Amino acid sequence: MTEPPKSIADDAVVTFHYKLRDAEGSFTESSDGASPVVYLHGRNNIVPGLETEMVGKKSGDKFTATVAPEHGYGERNPDAVQRVPVKHLATRGPYATGQMVAVQTRDGLRQGRVVKVGHFNVDLDLNHPLAGKTLVFDIEIVDVRDATGEELAHGHAHGPEGHGHDHGHDHGEHEQQP
Ligand code: ZN
Repeated sequence: MTEPPKSIADDAVVTFHYKLRDAEGSFTESSDGASPVVYLHGRNNIVPGLETEMVGKKSGDKFTATVAPEHGYGERNPDAVQRVPVKHLATRGPYATGQMVAVQTRDGLRQGRVVKVGHFNVDLDLNHPLAGKTLVFDIEIVDVRDATGEELAHGHAHGPEGHGHDHGHDHGEHEQQP
């Protein structure tokens, strides 16, 4: 007896491949040639607009999801362009316009894009590079399974191999997802 394929709902662990571009086709990122993304559904582990589109999909499904900025990386915040002393940058100069650099903030290290270079300061755009963009995802669902009790307790997936979770691993790695 074969069970019907599991469809995506809260507390499912989903494995998928993706291609991401913005609506103008100018930004592309994909999981091709890399590991697929594994996430626990229903816990805000991926972009909200994409998570909504995932509901009800099954292993083997391919689809395109178009996500408006407010359900993606948010609108651009003009106040997030800030003049920052060079000494606060974790990335060493010389700097060039358009370059991504790391800056030390009260909330830890953040990435910013250089919009202007001065002698002692740089103007940094701290918006997410995809803020204000409509995102177009081409998705292929690879696997859908039930989460383990441990995954539910942690609020994230632990990978297809179910790697031994000794709490020595860096939970930050779970957050590097679209
Ligand atoms: Zn964990």
